[in-house]
Amino acid sequence: MKGYKPRNPERLKRMVALFKQGKTFVEVAKEFGVSHQYVQQVFKKAGIASSDGGNAIRRRMCEQECKYDGCNRLAKTKGYCNKHYQRLRVYGTVTPKRKFVEHDGGCLVDGCTEPFRFGGLCNKHATNFYVNKREGKITDLNDYLKVKKAKALMGKRYAVFTEIRSFMESNKELF
Ligand SMILES: [Zn+2]
Ligand SMILES: [Zn+2]
Repeated sequence: MKGYKPRNPERLKRMVALFKQGKTFVEVAKEFGVSHQYVQQVFKKAGIASSDGGNAIRRRMCEQECKYDGCNRLAKTKGYCNKHYQRLRVYGTVTPKRKFVEHDGGCLVDGCTEPFRFGGLCNKHATNFYVNKREGKITDLNDYLKVKKAKALMGKRYAVFTEIRSFMESNKELF
């Protein structure tokens, strides 16, 4: 389609519409009083023809591709393919979450050697986190997490508190 300017875009649009409705090249050609080779050629130039008489193309045109940029799986639900729909359902967004630590054995708080339990933090620090957060004592997450250690944990995957995660996401340069 790139760079190609049909002489009569309106006509091409109508041809494509018929084609999408299931008409063959020959039938489309008849409607417009042209040869089916001509239709084939125009479609080809416009990037919508195929060698198998248009069936594959028709399929692709009729069945929508996943809305996710760069994904060419067929859309199943809400315009997304299965994978991206599941992602949307589970995470509320189709943008891939940055993958954090599986776990290196420790809580995200620097210097803490406890295994993590919740949101990347050990029992104690998770409790602290919530309590302090509620009381407004954690004003600097950077300071609380001691980013250096978090940095060492990046690149693997684990569940982190949404708050910590979004902090990490928006402070990528720190990590
Ligand atoms: Zn997809
Ligand atoms: Zn801890």
